[in-house]
Amino acid sequence: MKKYEIAIIKGDGIGPEIVDEAKKVLDAISYSHGFELSYHDYLMGGIAVDRAGVPLPDETIEGCLRADAVLFGAIGGEKWDSLPRELRPESGLLKLRKSLEIFANLRPTVVYDELIEASTLKESVIKGVDILVVRELIGGIYFGEPKGREGDRAFNTMVYSVPEIERIAHVAFKAAMRRQKRVCSVDKANVLDVSQLWRETVTRIAKEYPEVELSHMYIDNAAMQLIRNPKQFDVILTGNLFGDILSDEASMLSGSIGLLPSASIGGKAALYEPIHGSAPDIAGQGIANPIATIASASMMLRHSLGEVEAADAIDKAIVKTLKEGYRTKDIAAFGAKEICTTDEMGSIIANYAAKKGE
Ligand code: NAD
Repeated sequence: MKKYEIAIIKGDGIGPEIVDEAKKVLDAISYSHGFELSYHDYLMGGIAVDRAGVPLPDETIEGCLRADAVLFGAIGGEKWDSLPRELRPESGLLKLRKSLEIFANLRPTVVYDELIEASTLKESVIKGVDILVVRELIGGIYFGEPKGREGDRAFNTMVYSVPEIERIAHVAFKAAMRRQKRVCSVDKANVLDVSQLWRETVTRIAKEYPEVELSHMYIDNAAMQLIRNPKQFDVILTGNLFGDILSDEASMLSGSIGLLPSASIGGKAALYEPIHGSAPDIAGQGIANPIATIASASMMLRHSLGEVEAADAIDKAIVKTLKEGYRTKDIAAFGAKEICTTDEMGSIIANYAAKKGE
């Protein structure tokens, strides 16, 4: 029987609750699909500051590097907001991404038919939306040098090298080959030198994927087009800053932050996490929506472990659960037949996922 080792980082706030539900689904699916998962828990975030004095202990980095994949909940909370920057929970996550060298962030946005009313946009605009944003994660203006403050000036540098653009472009084109074979590369090449290099490089890499149709769009237009006609997009490829903004914008097409997963891949170990934060306002109440984390676990099976059938089964189980009218509180206003706790939602999805062939 195949065995995989999963590093688990529950984190803060609702993190432990939602990760427990993802593990429940993974256990059910691994049993029914004939593979074994072993879990090792590691600290990151506020809980790591409290217990180990730093937001990312070395042991966590080492454990993640040893594992086949990392499943992560969320970090952060008011308790740690006033600490110096290097001790704040989000410094732990940035350092983990850097340490694992995960340069590609994949964020799918699908609009579930059952929750179409949750979106602020019209049904005709969003029905059938299925977009993947591929964002460069460890370069660009968030990391470029020089940066700093001098008197009454402050500055950051947007910098990309050809190899950095090439490797993220390959991720996007490969993803498009498994989807509708369309990549839209988003930049600001009418103004920025770095975007001109981005565009030239992406255009060159596209020649290696003749089946994929490549288009280019300026970031300001892309932000508008995502709202005007999101169905025109399949894969959106973009840099760190533009991707940060566009992926949040795209996620809101679905109407609920509790539904969407993400994968950060390409480095020494891949990290899977929901797109939302630690939701301290609802932590410990048993009302958090675990679907985003369960869908992240499905991405982990698909991308890191190659257990595609099991991933498909989880994705189908999520759809079935929503179709049957089960809702956590955050989506209760949209077609609920039964309101569930976090734990109940996890159990229902686990049961559906484990029943092969349904
Ligand atoms: P958030 O995503 O935690 O919450 C925003 C709103 O969405 C809240 O009302 C919350 O209750 C709700 N929500 C989020 N996830 C939900 C879920 N699964 N089910 C139901 N409702 C859900 O964003 P925030 O409030 O801006 O940040 C809270 C903390 O999370 C902060 O400390 C922030 O720094 C941190 N954060 C962490 C990450 C991460 O760990 N990757 C990402 C973003 C924010």
